[in-house]
Parts: sequence; C-alpha cells; structure tokens
Amino acid sequence: MTKLPPNPHSLTLEELFKLLETSITGLSVAEAKKRLDTYGPNELEEAPKKSPLKLFLAQFANVLIFILLIAASISFLVGDEIEAVVILLIVLACGVLGFIQEWKADKALAALKEMAAPEAIVIREGKHLKIPAREVVPGDILVLAAGDKVAADVRLVESINLKIDEAPFTGESVPVSKDASLVLPPETPLPDRRNMAFAGTTVINGRGLGLVVATGKATEFGKIAHMLKGVEEEKTPLEKRLAVIGRWLGVLSLIVAAVAAAFGIMRGHSWLEMFLWGVSLAVAAVPESLPAVVTAALAIGVSRMAKRRAIVKRLPAVETLGSTTVICTDKTGTLTKNEMTVKKIWAGDKLFEITGTGYETKGQILYKGKPVDIFHHPDLYHTLLVGLLCNDARLEDGKFIGDPTEIALLVAGLKAGLNPEAFERVAEVPFDSDRKRMSVVVREKANGRYLILTKGSLESLLGISSHYQKDDKIFPLNAQEKQKIAQMTDAMADEALRVMAFAFREVESVPSENEIERDLIFCGLQGMIDPPRPEVREAVKKCHEAGIRVIMITGDHAKTALTIGYDLGIVPEKRPAFALTARELENLSDHELKEKLKKVSVFARVSPAHKLRLVKLLKEDGHIVAMTGDGVNDAPALKAADIGIAMGITGTQVAKEASDIILADDNFATIVAAVEEGRTIFDNIKKYMLFLLSFNLSEILVLIAGFLKGLALPLTAIHILWINLVTNGPPALALGVDPPAPDLMKRPPRPPQEGVFTRRLVALIGAFSVLIAFFLLPVFVYGFSASQSVIFSQTVLFTGFVFMAVAVAYVSRSEYLNIWRYNPLANKWLNLSVLFMVASQIMIVQCPFFNKYLHTVPISEKWWFILAALALFYIFPAEILKSLISRFFR
Ligand code: ADP
Ligand code: MG
Repeated sequence: MTKLPPNPHSLTLEELFKLLETSITGLSVAEAKKRLDTYGPNELEEAPKKSPLKLFLAQFANVLIFILLIAASISFLVGDEIEAVVILLIVLACGVLGFIQEWKADKALAALKEMAAPEAIVIREGKHLKIPAREVVPGDILVLAAGDKVAADVRLVESINLKIDEAPFTGESVPVSKDASLVLPPETPLPDRRNMAFAGTTVINGRGLGLVVATGKATEFGKIAHMLKGVEEEKTPLEKRLAVIGRWLGVLSLIVAAVAAAFGIMRGHSWLEMFLWGVSLAVAAVPESLPAVVTAALAIGVSRMAKRRAIVKRLPAVETLGSTTVICTDKTGTLTKNEMTVKKIWAGDKLFEITGTGYETKGQILYKGKPVDIFHHPDLYHTLLVGLLCNDARLEDGKFIGDPTEIALLVAGLKAGLNPEAFERVAEVPFDSDRKRMSVVVREKANGRYLILTKGSLESLLGISSHYQKDDKIFPLNAQEKQKIAQMTDAMADEALRVMAFAFREVESVPSENEIERDLIFCGLQGMIDPPRPEVREAVKKCHEAGIRVIMITGDHAKTALTIGYDLGIVPEKRPAFALTARELENLSDHELKEKLKKVSVFARVSPAHKLRLVKLLKEDGHIVAMTGDGVNDAPALKAADIGIAMGITGTQVAKEASDIILADDNFATIVAAVEEGRTIFDNIKKYMLFLLSFNLSEILVLIAGFLKGLALPLTAIHILWINLVTNGPPALALGVDPPAPDLMKRPPRPPQEGVFTRRLVALIGAFSVLIAFFLLPVFVYGFSASQSVIFSQTVLFTGFVFMAVAVAYVSRSEYLNIWRYNPLANKWLNLSVLFMVASQIMIVQCPFFNKYLHTVPISEKWWFILAALALFYIFPAEILKSLISRFFR
C-alpha cells in the first residue's frame, strides 16, 4: 500500500504522479479495483445495518402487546395453558407479519439510498468514467466542473477559471480561485492551499482536473466533520401526526376496554377472563401499527416511484407531492427530448438549410436547395467554426459526449467538413446560465493566428458585439442591423427552433480573461430543433385535470418557449400575453408579478435568481410549488420550493443535493407520475384507516351492546385477537398498496394542512361502524335463540365479522366513488387476502382440530350462506351512506 503524501500541495505534479504510481491518463481499471480494497471506500462511515433480529423483536416493543403477554402468562399459570399458547401464537404471527412489512420497507429505502448516492467522473485508462463517488481511489484523476461536489481531496493538475466554494470547510462564503500551476510551502494553511481542492467543497465556476491524494476518512473533511448523507431518514408530518393519534386511540380504547371488562366482572365473569378479554379488546381496537403501516406505505410508494424513475431523497416530500398545485419546469430536456439537430443557419443575410438527422455527421448545407461551398461564404464559415470550437462536447469511442446543444453544433461543423484538429484552445470563459454565453480563444495551428470565438443567446451576444460580418466584409453593428437580426431570431424561434448566436474576433496575442468578451464581430445564427417529448402532452393534460398548473421556466428565447408551450398545451394560445421575459419580469413589482402569474405560464430568458423570486411569490399566494433545476445556481430555488426536483442526467451534484427528488430520466412526465404516486399513497392510507377503524369500532359497539342487552359474551378474547391480528392484517396491508382510483387525477390537490381525518372520513367511519353493528348484532341474538348455545352463537358472530370485513374492505377502496364506479376486484392482493380470510375461517370452524383452540363449533351450510348474503347485502346501504356523506361533508 502506497503511503498517501502528507503535504501534496508542496510537491510538484511529477513527484506526485510518481509517488502515487499514476499518470494524467489515470489508473488502469484493475489497479483502481485493487486500490479500492486497500484504501477502502471513499466514504466517512458505513451506515449501521439494522439486524433482522432487532427488527423482529421491535415488533413486540409495544405496551399493549406487553400487557397481553402478561395476561396470557397469568392465564397459563392458573391452568389455562391452551388459551395462553394460542394467544402467544397469534401475537407471534402478527409479529412476523409486521416484521416482513418493515423489512421490505427498509430494503426499499436502502435501495433508494443507493440510487441517490453521489457520483463522480474520473479518468481511467484515458477515458472519462462516471462512477459512484464512494469508489474513487487515491491515484484517480478526478474531473471537476461547475456544480460538482468535490468527491475527494485532490492536488489540481489543471485549472481553468476554477472557483471553489469552501464555505462548509472554512466558513468563508466567497469562492476561492484555484491554480494548478502553484507549488506551495509545506506549512501553508489549509484555506491558502490554492493548488488543492478538498472533499465536500463545491465547484462554482470553471473546470479542472485533480489527482486524488486522499479519500474517505483520510480527507481533510473526513478529519473534521461528517459528510452529508444521501437519503435522510426523517419522519414525515403524517407519520408524526399519526403517532399522536395512535396514542390517543390507544388510551381511549384502554378506557373502553377497562369499562367493558368491569361490566363483565359485574355480570359474573371471572376477573381473570375479563382481564384477558379487556386487554385483547384494547390490542385489537387500536391500530397501534398505524405509524408502521404509514412508513410501509410510504416505502412501497417510493420504490414504485423509483420504478417510474423518480428517486425520492426525503420521505416528507412524498406527502407534499400529493398536494402540489403548481409545477415549475425547465424546458430543454424536461419538456423536450434534448436531442438537438441544427436545421437552419442564418449568416450574411442568407438563410441556409442543413440536412441530415440526429448525431449522424453526414449532411449537406444548402442555399435555395443547392449545396454550397462554405469557404465561399466567410460569414457562414465563421458561424460554423465558432459552433465547432467554442464547444466542450467531444467524440469518444465513436460516441458524442457532452451537452446536446453543443453536440448539435459540433455535428453541424463536422457536416460542413471543418477540422477541429487544426486549432488548439488556449483560453476560455465557461458558460453559465446567468451570462448565457461562453467564449474560447484558439490558435490556428497552420498560421499561428489567434481567434476569439463566442456563442450564446442573441441578447447576450449583441451586448458585446460592435460589428457584423456580411460575406467577406465587416460593418459596424447599428440599431437597424440589430433589429434585423432580432427579427430573424424571432422567425426561427417561431418554428420552435432553439436559436444560438455566434461572434468572433481576431487578436494578436492571448488577451486576459476580462478582455475577451468585447468588440466582437457578429457572424450568424444557428437554429436547432429539439422535438418535444411525445408523452409530455398527455402529462400536461393530466395536470390540468388534476387541478395542477404547469409553468415553463426557461433560459431560452421567448418565442421558442411559447411555441413549444403551445405545442404541449401549457398555454391555450400562442399569444405573447401568455409569456413573460426576464426583462419584463424585472420591471414588475411583486404585486404586479403575482397578478401576471395568474395567467402567464411561460417565463423566458430567466436566470436562477428569477426562479427563486417566482417560487417565493407562488408560495405567498398559497401554492404548493414543485420546481425543477439542474445548475449550480438553481440550489436556492430548489431549496425554497416545497418540492425541489433535480435532473438526474443533466443535473449538477449541487442541484441534486439541494433537491427532494431526483428525476432519473429528466422527464416532465415522470414528475406527474410522482405526483400521482404521492396522491395514491395518501389515498391508500385513508382507505386503510377507513377499513380498520370502522371495522374495529363496530366490534366495540357489538360487544358493548351485547353487554348492555344482558347477553352472553359475544366474542371471546381469542376471537377478538384472531380477527384483528390475523384475518384483518392482510386486507389492511393490501389496501395500503391499492392501485389508484380512477378519479385520483381528476380531483383537485389535497390542501396540505388537511390531515388524514377529514370530516368526511370521520363521518364515514362513524356511519359504517354503526351500520356493521346493526347488521351483526342480530346474528348473535338469532344464533343464540336458535341454538341456545353460547359457543355456537359466538361462532356465527365471529364468522359474520370475518365475512363482513371482506365487504368493508371492498367498500373502503374509495371514499369518493361508489363501488360500481370502480372495479372492486382490481387489487389482486386484496382478492388474495379475502381468499385467505374465507379459507382460514372455514378451516377453524369446520375442522374439529381447531375448534378446541379457537373456541368454535362447526356450523351448517345454511349459516354460511346467511352470513355471506348478509355481508354482500351490507354493500348497498353502505354505498348509499357514502353518497349521502359525500354530499354533506368534504
Ligand atoms: P434552458 O435549459 O432553459 O434551455 P439554459 O440555461 O440551458 O436554458 O440556456 C439558456 C440560453 O443560454 C440558451 O437559450 C442559449 O442561448 C444559451 N446557452 C445554452 N447553452 C449554452 C452553451 N453551452 N454555450 C453558450 N450558450 C449557451
Ligand atoms: Mg439547460
């Protein structure tokens, strides 16, 4: 194992390369693998794994279960062994069910963590590789670009305008300029080591290459702090609220159970029997698994979202998603495919067309349908040359790598027969979305002359150009000419083309950085198509039906944005009234802008700061805002939004870190899918509550009514436990993963402050429970008068409850729609649970073996038939109540 150099900032690169046995082309893949074993993964601490045993035991760490076990052991001691063992088995079965559920939830969340883990780009064997940041090893060459989180401590090998924010490290919020060419004395303090970049800091500007000199705990950051975790395990508001509700219900049902048990004792039952019975009732009545079920529903929901390519980083975001009222989205790559092809070039007052599709480098440049020689059109030549060289995209192993806009320009240049190898880049000013342009200085190898080449948005370029080229002549750029160029840009944008402007200037020598972008000569425009994603139209429509607004926020030209917006149904008409540019936006007061926001759905030429303002204003107006972003500067807006959504493909590490959700495919339709899942989760938790609480309440009602009417004990402790811990478990879980109702995306967003217990839900629970009791109490009475046997009448009531649970579960699949408006059998898990419930009931009632343990006796076919018919018949009055309640309660 090579020892890591203690003061890499004081060594020359040659020394370091030798020490670490590596080079500028990086390690071999095999060597990197070996080093990963020697030095360990590049992370600070491994997350402690929850042991399955601990998880299993945690299922029983519940006061009520505890009391139940005590009660069971007492009854064991006084000689009721069978009863005690059966109770133990039921509790065990319930524990296993809970364990499986939580185990799966944990696994889903762990998988998610993996997906959201940070990545890094390294050079190995001369190739750029994207790898998980934890696999970076000493000796790797790390590629740094604006928006990256530095993955390990590096000694810089190359730095181009590299500025790094070391605030988490030094507390100093002004970015530090880095310089790879320095060699510093060993005693240089950390903040002054300008030839180094440290793990945990952020690249704000420029780019660079660094030689990894320390990873994981050996990094400077590792020595002082903890790295940010990928996925935060945070309780969601819903989980917190339900934990409180669960506790209250627990206390309440304990009181009810105690009172009921006291009644029983007064009526001559033994106190031990009643103690056990009361505790069973309390255990059964409280959905103490409430928070656990919510966690499970959330976990299953987020893993479903992950399958639909939305990776959730913070669980609370899932709940908020369901309440989203407005989605602010990027255009390029999110609404469009981000597969650009240059179609039109305007230079020297002539409009050229360029043929060929995609990234194929075969194609021709036509003028009025005839091929042209670009060398006869210096303006066209320069336009293509700037596109070719003022460009960070590259061809690697026959594949284009880089920003699709730049790839398109590179392809256009190659189609024209230009050769990038004839030039070398000597300086550059990188692109950023505030300036909306980038520049390079190149040296033409053949004649040694220097050229400044700049590309960017038209507005941005006109501000720094003083002349324009037409054929081989240069003219001053006057207002009239500027207007003509702007008109041409508008015309191209009107056809949904993304338009870029190009300019250049010849210089004697390499100018200093702030001397580059001035006095340029405008040479032309290139317009590229970026087809809309076909699925987005449908997704936008879905949003509108679901009461969600879609707002496009783009750095692109207003016309291009409006045309695409109209194409996708984001704006109803292609009228300027529906779009606003950054310039117009800046002249509006907050109040005026809020008014505009009611109607305008396209914001163009916007910079990240405007995004932040829009989020804030929308939130002030009571909106729940989901906002997408990708760049370094998007972090504040992503954080300010209720749900920050980062692009998985084009997004920077910084944007991903600031966000709640990462879109693996950058696709707008995925956001809508996530909203749908968010709504589904919430809906399902409510279905689960409706089922369990109305059913449990009805049980209490029947038991108490039985007492009050002076009847025998309607159900024994074992019956109660069996129903609630065994047969009701599976259907309740099945409701937790219920498929979305047909009206899910036709309803307006749920107000975020609205909890689970809406007035409507409480009314439904109340009405259903009374109705169930009304159906089942006579079963017990009639069963007793028909047989004069307590155990017989208990068995029919017991069976009646199980059958009724089936009906209640199907009815609970929607609190909004009547059962005939949805397919009641759409949930296959529920159907399976029902089969299990019925089969197990037949078994424990009809098999003599089980009769003894579960306090049952066989009953005739007639009774089976009556109970089934009763459960089926329950559906009708229940649905009528549903309709009535939905009319009076919201
Ligand atoms: P969006 O993603 O919403 O289209 P961007 O911030 O990526 O917005 O781009 C805004 C504008 O900046 C583009 O319309 C274009 O004019 C310009 N631009 C984009 N990419 C580059 C680049 N690589 N070099 C120079 N200018 C660019
Ligand atoms: Mg962009």
